[in-house]
Formats: sequence, structure tokens, C-alpha cells
Amino acid sequence: MPSRIFARIARCLPVACLVLTLHGTAQADEASVARPMPDEALRTLRDGNDRFTAGTPGHPRQDVARAAATARDGQFPLATVLSCSDSRVPVEIVFDAGIGDLFVVRVAGNVADVDEIGSIEYGVGHLGTPLLVVLGHSKCGAVTAVVTDAEVHGLIPPLVENIRPAAAAARQAFPDLAAADLVPEAIRANVWQTIDDICHNSPATRELLAAGKLMIVGAVYDLETGSVNWLGPHPDQGRLLRYDDAGPLAYAAHGGDAAPPAAGEQASGEHATDEQATDEHAEPAHGAPEAHAAQQGSNPGAGFWLVAVGIGLANFGLGFAVKHLLPAFKRG
Ligand SMILES: [Zn+2]
Repeated sequence: MPSRIFARIARCLPVACLVLTLHGTAQADEASVARPMPDEALRTLRDGNDRFTAGTPGHPRQDVARAAATARDGQFPLATVLSCSDSRVPVEIVFDAGIGDLFVVRVAGNVADVDEIGSIEYGVGHLGTPLLVVLGHSKCGAVTAVVTDAEVHGLIPPLVENIRPAAAAARQAFPDLAAADLVPEAIRANVWQTIDDICHNSPATRELLAAGKLMIVGAVYDLETGSVNWLGPHPDQGRLLRYDDAGPLAYAAHGGDAAPPAAGEQASGEHATDEQATDEHAEPAHGAPEAHAAQQGSNPGAGFWLVAVGIGLANFGLGFAVKHLLPAFKRG
């Protein structure tokens, strides 16, 4: 029996070591690598898009050696980019960037719902990118569908629901425009709406923004020219910073009618301390509710240990029966 216990411990050791190694590596990422300032990161993206539109891209850091280096040393992207899934907006290409340069979140209509905001919190919080770009694009099908009241099916309705406030805002600002002319305005309004949604629902992101560790800018990519029209920070960023709760999406992720978390709880990262050593999912210490849920889901609970002890006892009983009872039965 003791030898079996040692065998089990031995089998668990490599997993435990792997988890601790991942944890250690991720900590080194944040602590040891110097990051560009937000405006430097923005200049790098601007220069990259200028090279792309001029037809003189450098295709930097796109070879297998770079892949191996980033696999070995970790990722230190300089910007988080939330973009549309549209196949004509390949983010690394239009910014003439390479492997490990950009932490890209892509979703139809570049909306910011629970999963997108969780990903963004990972990019700006855990990976520490000093810049977040919300990148819309011309002729966006998702925005056009909402502006023209096109019929959508399946799981698309809840996705485009995120775009409706932007379409309404564009309609209100330009009541005389026909739908086709309203689309570019709605695309721009949708970029602002997305930044608003991120700030409203992510206290961790607001905290980085307020501290000057993060810059959030809007931009619209032109499908025809390949150029990025930089819109700058949200025109009403001061109001976004005054959101003082976790936002409706965070409440929903916590179980819908759960009481709002206490002020400051989410941004403190207090959940991530005790459990980090046993679970690499605990890395985002900036309060992503999804990350905390993942932690809880992957930690073995009382049920797991009950089953494990049960299996152990059954093993022991079976071994005892084979060793002692069976020979006695045969002798009898
Ligand atoms: Zn699109």
C-alpha cells in the first residue's frame, strides 16, 4: 500500500512541477521585461501600417526562429488589439508586425462581451500591453446588418445586440442619412461603444487606464486603401473612468442576480494569491471574473477527494480478497 501511494505521488510530481514552472515563467514575463510607453507602442503600430500602405512591408519577426524564440522565452506583445473577424482585416499583416508582437482578439463586429473583455484583461493585465486598440473597419457586415435591420439567425442575434446602441447613436446624430450612408458613422460609433463597454465592465482595465499604464485608442481600417484611420482615445474618457462598479456583464458572469462585488474587490487581485501555485489559470491577477471562475472549476473539490479515497479503499479491498480470501476459499 505505501508503495502504491509513493507511485501516485511520483506520477503527480511532473504535473505539479509543470504547473509551478508555468507559474514561475509567467511571473518572470511581467517582472523582468521592460515595456514600451503607450505612445511608443502606438507609434510602432502607426509606422507598421505606414509601411504596409506604402507597399514596403518589412515582414519582421515572421520566421520559424522567431516562433521558437517566443515559445522558449514567452510572449511580450506591445499591444492588445480587438478587431473584427472579417478575413480582410488580418491584423498582424496590416500593422506589419510579427509573431509575439500583438495580442489579438477577433470577433465579428469587434464587440466587447464577456469573453472578449476577459481576453482583453489578460492582454492588458497579465501580459501588460501598454496599448489597447479597438479596430473597426469599413464595410463591416455585422454593423451593416444592424443598421439595415437585416434578419439574423442562430446565435448571431445576441452578438449583434452589442452593436445596437452604436447604430441608435449614429441614427440620432445623423437622422437625415439613409442606411447606406449611416453605416460608416455607425462603424465609428461602434468603436466608441466597444471602448465604453470595456471600461464599464472591467474595473481592472479602468484602473490601468487611470494610472497611465494603459492607453486605449479607437481606429478604423479602410478595406480599400489598407490604411488605419486613428481616432485617438474615447472623446468622453473622463466619464468612462467614473464608472464605479463591475458593470452588468461582470454581474452576469457571477450568476446574474448575485450581489455586486464590493468596491475595489475585483481590481485587488486578492482571489489570485492563494491558488496561484497550483493552477496556471490563476495568472490574471487583475480581476477577470472568468479567470476566477476557471480557477474554481479546476481545483479539485470535496467530491473529487471522496471519489479518490473510495477508489483507494476499493483497490485495497480487492487486493486483500485476492491475496487472502481466494486461497482460503480454494483450500476449503
Ligand atoms: Zn466587420
